Amino acid sequence: MDRRKFLKTSIIFSATPLFARSKNKPHFIFPKKPFEYYHLKSKNSKFRIMLIGGIHGNEMGAYKAADMLIDATLKKGELFIIPRSNFTSILADVRGYNGDMNRKFAYISKKDPDFYYVELLKEAILEYKPDVLISMHDGYGFNIENKRAWGQSVVIDEKKYKNFNLYTEAKFVQENANIYLKRKLGLINTKTFTAHIHDEQKKALTAWCLEHGIKAFCIEASKQLPKLEEKIKTHLVMLREFFKLYDVKIEGFNEMVKNPGKFLDNRNIEMKVKINNTLYAFKHSEKIKISKQSNVEFVGFNGPRGSFAIPKGINLNWRKFYAKNLRIDVKNDFKRKFSLKIRS
Ligand SMILES: [Zn+2]
Repeated sequence: MDRRKFLKTSIIFSATPLFARSKNKPHFIFPKKPFEYYHLKSKNSKFRIMLIGGIHGNEMGAYKAADMLIDATLKKGELFIIPRSNFTSILADVRGYNGDMNRKFAYISKKDPDFYYVELLKEAILEYKPDVLISMHDGYGFNIENKRAWGQSVVIDEKKYKNFNLYTEAKFVQENANIYLKRKLGLINTKTFTAHIHDEQKKALTAWCLEHGIKAFCIEASKQLPKLEEKIKTHLVMLREFFKLYDVKIEGFNEMVKNPGKFLDNRNIEMKVKINNTLYAFKHSEKIKISKQSNVEFVGFNGPRGSFAIPKGINLNWRKFYAKNLRIDVKNDFKRKFSLKIRS
């Protein structure tokens, strides 16, 4: 190779990583994943109940049940609902895309991609100061058949914690809910603060709440219930008993408990995308071709709560990146509705 040719090649090579990536591939920008919270208040409210769903992303019965109550009309009581605490994991349909969020309440690093959401959750809890907080999950298996399985249960950290009689209330909920459930509920006491069998539980949301003077319970449907509707129903049946204890009345709630499938929002999604400053709307699967210098910004979604889009093969914590070709999956929570294939 003569010297001139070598120089030319080396310049191209050294320039490649920076320039080629930014100039020869379209730039994609996603919106920040929302942290949704809803406050429902009736004229007649004695107690404040907080419902937390979606800390674990693959527990759809939990976050869908919490979400369903957002549209309820309260006749009595007050509810604060955070249905999707961990939206990244919900969209990926995994327990914890960035590790188990329910082990990050005692301590979380500022560098953790979940930091922003865990901090917002804590802030909301401390600001609202509920009389009771219920952390909603779908556990594995059936506790009544296998003591090590957490599915279908009410979970408490201790029988009694300071002046909170956790066991009495959990027992009331378990026994009364079981009248209405085919797959019966167990009652788990993790003895988080007195024994050391479940030391991990000290890092969980309910333990953090108790330590901050907030009464908290965990309710679990089972991942092994075959239908989403059955998982939602298990949650609503348990919540109905908590609502009796905390004087919450919801218009038409028995109908919702009986037939939750009717209340699921399965509307189609419209995705709004700005490509090089022109706004487009997509409602079903499409393939599009754009120039390499394009700027593609996903600006919003019309559809159910839980509508969002994720890029295939890209880190879901990233909001801005370059990619030559990209498939975007448009989702209603765990469920893919359509895909947009972009080529440049
Ligand atoms: Zn869980």
